[in-house]
Amino acid sequence: MRFETKLLHNGNEIDPYTGAASIPMYQASTFHQFSIDQPGEFDYARSGNPTRKALEETIAQLEGGCKGFAFASGMAAISTVFLLFSRGDHLIVSQDVYGGTYRVLTKVFERMGIETSFVDTTDLEQVVQAIQPHTKAIYIETPSNPLLKVTDIRGIVNIAQAHGFRTIVDNTFLTPYFQRPFSLGVDIVIHSATKFIAGHSDVIAGLVVVKDEDLAEELSLLQNSFGAILGVHDAWLVLRGIKTLKARMELSTRSAEKVALWLQQHPGVERVYYTGLPSHEGHYLQDAQASGHGAVLSFDLGSKERVRQLLDHVKLPIVAVSLGAVESILSYPALMSHASMPPEVRQKHGITDGLLRLSVGLESADDLIEDLAQALESRLTIAVGK
Ligand SMILES: *Cc1c(COP(=O)(O)O)cnc(C)c1O
Repeated sequence: MRFETKLLHNGNEIDPYTGAASIPMYQASTFHQFSIDQPGEFDYARSGNPTRKALEETIAQLEGGCKGFAFASGMAAISTVFLLFSRGDHLIVSQDVYGGTYRVLTKVFERMGIETSFVDTTDLEQVVQAIQPHTKAIYIETPSNPLLKVTDIRGIVNIAQAHGFRTIVDNTFLTPYFQRPFSLGVDIVIHSATKFIAGHSDVIAGLVVVKDEDLAEELSLLQNSFGAILGVHDAWLVLRGIKTLKARMELSTRSAEKVALWLQQHPGVERVYYTGLPSHEGHYLQDAQASGHGAVLSFDLGSKERVRQLLDHVKLPIVAVSLGAVESILSYPALMSHASMPPEVRQKHGITDGLLRLSVGLESADDLIEDLAQALESRLTIAVGK
């Protein structure tokens, strides 16, 4: 069965108890045991709930993994995965990892004796250099945020397997529609389902899928023990979002390509970062390990003033943190996602004061381009008027 069919037919689309065409919200915290000698499948909803289970089985199938887990947020998913490690363990993590991941590693897990080296994982040599006697895992995000740097997943897996490390991929930006890390040998896949998987800017959720039974057992214990589970209503919203994943990813990606090409030729834009452009340094690697380039791109206007003028005049995209929704979202990394990074460090990593990130939604690409055009023009008018 092809992936897009699996989005709708994966064994979790019909309620086994009533035949309902949408898995109901089993809004129950506990379940009656008809016989204490033969406990039912569900007992207490932290350990398991039918609605959440349908979502967990769906994402496991879509990623091609062994077992899925749904959490209250992407960060709850990521943090629970880090609970696999113990005092004295060392992790190698992509340097431009999601800000919340950086924060939980440096402010929380470090205090508990788990050490992390942040390296440019697009350079495999640097990954090898960072290996220590107690290294236990390599954690990557590809493409990364906000410059869409591409890490060679197979290369990372080769290094990890040679040393017995686990590999973990945050697959939020591409989703299994475009990228299946398990097929490249990865052990654990994580999502902020808040983004493309749910897709409607109306839910915070996280998902984890593991490759094998051993990890499934470890993660089951952690999910039940730590308890950062996804609520029933939110699980239902994510299940509904998944049904349209193909349609949303296809359309947004096609529009993102169009917008990226248009931005690239605009005289007011200094640089465009989109893996779909052959000029992007990760373009060919991305083609080799994923089947598409996704709906997120970044572009540099050169200064904070020009960013301000664009944001003041743009009408269609909402100006906000987050990405991966039906509506386009413009973010300003310097003051939003990367505000906690010291300005020198930010600049050094290319996250300049002129950089904007655009997550392209389902609006007409032509309308988006016209809107960006008038916002960029208004800048020119103001400049001339001065
Ligand atoms: C948003 C995001 C997260 C965190 O997810 P939440 O659902 O906000 O907790 C993690 N990784 C990436 C790549 C993200 O974009």
